[in-house]
Amino acid sequence: MKAPLANRAVEMLRLFKKIINNRSGMSVKLTRVVNMLAEQMKTDAAACYLVVDDNYLELFASCGFRAELNNNLSLRVGDGIIGGIAKSKCTTTVENIWQHPDFLYRAEVGEEKYKSFLGAPVIRWGRAVGVLCLYKKEAYEFCQKDIETLETLAMAFAEWAASDDMREYKNTFMEQRGQTIRNQYKGISLSRGFGVGPAVVHRRRQAVSKIFAEDKQAELERLAQAHAKMNHDLDEKFNASKLGIGEHTDILDAYRMFAKDKGWYNKIAGHVEGGLTAEAAVERAYEDMWNRLSGTQDVYLKERLHDLRDVADRLLGYLDGDTADVKTADLTEMVVVAQTMGPADLMDYDYHKIKALVLEDGTPTMHVAIVAKALGIPVVSKIKDIYKDIKNGELLAVDGDVGVVYIRPSEKILESFRSKIAERQRQAAELVALKKLPSRTLDKQHINMYINVGLDFDLDYIDKTNCDGIGLYRTEIPFMAAEKMPDVEHQIAHYKKLMDKAHGKKVVFRSLDVGSDKLLPYWAYSGEENPAIGWRSIRITLDRRAILRQQMRAFIRAAAGQELNVMFPMIANLAEFRDAKETLLLELEKEKRRLRDIPKKVNIGLMIEVPSVVFQLDAILKEADFISVGTNDLAQFVFACDRTNNRLAERYDVLSVPFLRVMRDISAKAAQAGVLCSVCGEMASNPIEAMVLLGLGYRNLSVSGASFGKVKRMVRSANTAHLADYIQTLLDFNQRTLRPQLMAYAHDHGIEIF
Ligand code: PEP
Ligand code: MG
Repeated sequence: MKAPLANRAVEMLRLFKKIINNRSGMSVKLTRVVNMLAEQMKTDAAACYLVVDDNYLELFASCGFRAELNNNLSLRVGDGIIGGIAKSKCTTTVENIWQHPDFLYRAEVGEEKYKSFLGAPVIRWGRAVGVLCLYKKEAYEFCQKDIETLETLAMAFAEWAASDDMREYKNTFMEQRGQTIRNQYKGISLSRGFGVGPAVVHRRRQAVSKIFAEDKQAELERLAQAHAKMNHDLDEKFNASKLGIGEHTDILDAYRMFAKDKGWYNKIAGHVEGGLTAEAAVERAYEDMWNRLSGTQDVYLKERLHDLRDVADRLLGYLDGDTADVKTADLTEMVVVAQTMGPADLMDYDYHKIKALVLEDGTPTMHVAIVAKALGIPVVSKIKDIYKDIKNGELLAVDGDVGVVYIRPSEKILESFRSKIAERQRQAAELVALKKLPSRTLDKQHINMYINVGLDFDLDYIDKTNCDGIGLYRTEIPFMAAEKMPDVEHQIAHYKKLMDKAHGKKVVFRSLDVGSDKLLPYWAYSGEENPAIGWRSIRITLDRRAILRQQMRAFIRAAAGQELNVMFPMIANLAEFRDAKETLLLELEKEKRRLRDIPKKVNIGLMIEVPSVVFQLDAILKEADFISVGTNDLAQFVFACDRTNNRLAERYDVLSVPFLRVMRDISAKAAQAGVLCSVCGEMASNPIEAMVLLGLGYRNLSVSGASFGKVKRMVRSANTAHLADYIQTLLDFNQRTLRPQLMAYAHDHGIEIF
């Protein structure tokens, strides 16, 4: 015999019937149901998800969460705790969601307020058609009675869910939602923050898909028209702009002459005569030129090749009919949309005006993302098709916190963005207040906090943050932004400016680290199969020793009379480190012989980025003055996972046992040898990851300027001794990631990681 229903369940069923029999609209009824649930079950929040398209759970009503959440949240069946309930059709209770291995943190939900959870599936004919959820702020163990009561209501709810009214409402809801979905793209966040502005589509060369022309004559006409229009527009643009006189106008004139060059045009036309489409002919003409010029050492000719690529891209754009050109100079703000781009491409735009960056491809350790983050620009990537769907000038709202882009956002969305942006500004002001406070943990450990610098604007952070110095100066970035390889004098001027701006604080120069995803526009690369593990970084500069020698000379001269810190990237063994170190010492000797002023002290170190050096660390530490862990590359090699491959972006986590054990070993060995050890990879710039570094013994962090405040706030709220104990226990766990446990730990111990 079935047990009689408890009083509370009877009362809830009565209230439920009353609500659904009322004349109000379905949305009001649903909201009343969740409110009643929370009230009767004495919880702080409640939510109702319904299954749509068999695969997704849509949030139809909630209370205790942000109002704008309703109608705007979906989950895949199987994902997270709630998706898991729909999949398993089992009621689930969780005392602390932050410790649950399936907990899926979604910043937009505002779940950080809640700890305990009870969720019951709504089942109809053996299929889950929804999930009812309850949340409490404190840790709480829902009892068997709670479970039975919610399950009883879920049964009644299932009947209602199958009613015609509900079916109709679901259809209307989804139609409206469909509208929202089409205007809303979900990607991954590479840099947090919010930005609104008109789209500026960063044009990039598309692979030519049609090679052979069907109608030669028509193709020639198409080419002639596109070419004429492009030149007309270029003339108009350059004549109309008040550019003044200088190197930049020379460059633009050269560019214009290139575009008009008869020889180039005739070559393309000749290829069309030979049967190619206009697009394929443009590419072929470029390839011919590239084959002839790429081997040359003549910097001028190489530069022309670069111009030619640009003009060819522009002509391809005109052939494609994509000539809409946003005059960015007239814009006061913009959202740049690109398929993918390099850091130097980003600098084509006035970065003050860039409110957000949207990339179709991109991973967190990609350089453009690092640069954008340093500028405080929100970045969302991995959004399929956005590049071709968006037109110049369309209004975009980018939520870099959750990785969502809204196209033509409604006034309601814009309003919520405005208030979020205002809130961020308030937080930024709060961070200014942190500037004067010591970067000390609760257990009185001082943490040296440096910033990473690449482009000039990073230097502003020296004063803004009151940091301990520059822990990583990426010298290749000015090399990449330059038109040609800077000579020693140019380099000295640049490094001196940097040292001046540092006002005597420590500066760590890294030798040129090019190759892989950091290419110099004026250098031909041989198209390697595996550039990340190819001829790059120190491998190039040891082979092209003159470049390394010149750079060392520039460092020594720029730091005359001061302390010089130099580190070498991508060192794979002691022999390479010795070789590079020797080059620096030889240059130092030469300077002494020339009776020039030399630095008062020289510290020579290396980056720990290649796993092989971890296995030779004891020997290396005897010869290095300091080491700095480049977690971006180290993680890519430890996991054998290309840092620029967006299909792998979320596959491996640095907060996992294998990587943390490597990090622990490095820090322990350095401490034992008494050698200064820091972290300058992105791991140090992310508060939760930096928190773990403190627990692993790291006391020197070099972070991106924009992340400095957040990391410092975390440092000031952490206790390194407690962290060390806790992380030690985690290192025996075998989950794919330890992130949920660590988030829960931070949450429970009041460590500020957001
Ligand atoms: C790293 O690899 O972690 C690093 C700091 O170097 P980069 O990102 O410039 O390769
Ligand atoms: Mg690196």
